[in-house]
Amino acid sequence: MAAFGKTFMPKMTLAKYENGQWQEFNLTSAEQLTLHPGAHVLHYASTCFEGLKAFRHRDGSVHIFRLENNVARMQQSARLLNLPEINAEQLRAMIIRVVEEYVTEVPEPPGSMYIRPTLIGTEAAIGKAAAPTDSAMLYVLLSPVGDYFAGGERALRLLVEEDGMRCAAHMGMIKSGGNYASAMPHILAAKAGHQADQVLFAPNGDVQETGAANFLLLDGDELITKNLDSTFLHGITRDSLLTLAADMGYRVSERELTVSELLERAAHEDCEAALSGTAAVLAPVGELLHNGTLHKVGSGNIGTKVKQLRQALNAIQWGQAADKYGWLTRVSQR
Ligand SMILES: *Cc1c(COP(=O)(O)O)cnc(C)c1O
Repeated sequence: MAAFGKTFMPKMTLAKYENGQWQEFNLTSAEQLTLHPGAHVLHYASTCFEGLKAFRHRDGSVHIFRLENNVARMQQSARLLNLPEINAEQLRAMIIRVVEEYVTEVPEPPGSMYIRPTLIGTEAAIGKAAAPTDSAMLYVLLSPVGDYFAGGERALRLLVEEDGMRCAAHMGMIKSGGNYASAMPHILAAKAGHQADQVLFAPNGDVQETGAANFLLLDGDELITKNLDSTFLHGITRDSLLTLAADMGYRVSERELTVSELLERAAHEDCEAALSGTAAVLAPVGELLHNGTLHKVGSGNIGTKVKQLRQALNAIQWGQAADKYGWLTRVSQR
């Protein structure tokens, strides 16, 4: 299969917002959009998106993971960006409709159908740098994805960054394009200068997250991750893993984690760290590079706790374990 996110289904669902209201959505070509070159999104970044997945079970049925949570988070992003209020019913229907269209194309586990709802401000108005767009488009793209770990799984190296920030603090919990542009110089410098895979943003010693994934520390029977505040992205994978970890007997601590506590705990033999997000579920972290010193996390290798937690979540997504929290939405076969 092609690189993650480069293959798209030929159609998407699309709805337009004009004259103060959402029009009915339809299924349309995903090949191109027509936008005025002065469109608000192209100048003032009025945009947000979501990322979720549909999974195929052994009996052939297809299920979307945590649909309601992703819809709610996109509504929140739109609200915080002063984009037109998203109608949850409509977005939900748009996601289900397009997945139904391609229900037979959903890959078998460990593959899945990645779903990318996107909202953009379309008003041609370059004078509106400080005013919201009057019109918008909402569309839902599909991209079939294979095994995230197909190239072989390895523990990642993170550069711990205490000076730079991923994005402006008040933008942290919004899933919006500008935030990734903001993080990119730090990530490129860490890759080129330190052979790091990602940057762990920890402004003033406060461990937050990486460029596009949340950070979890598993030390002994404790799972530590930053408590929810408005400075970082509230991952739905993070939330799911914390729920499963509590079931598995971990003490789940959502609290401030400083860089010094992190490095101290990383030295423990049975300490593990990982990044959580929809793409990988949970990816192991083996090394932390801080002020020129390389710190191993535990053994520095892929740990058993990370594997077990990931398996527990995959088992629900893949229909191998009971969906006891009602996280799956079944999509009908057309
Ligand atoms: C999407 C994203 C995550 C992970 O969120 P999930 O809902 O678990 O996929 C974490 N951090 C950032 C910055 C993200 O964009």
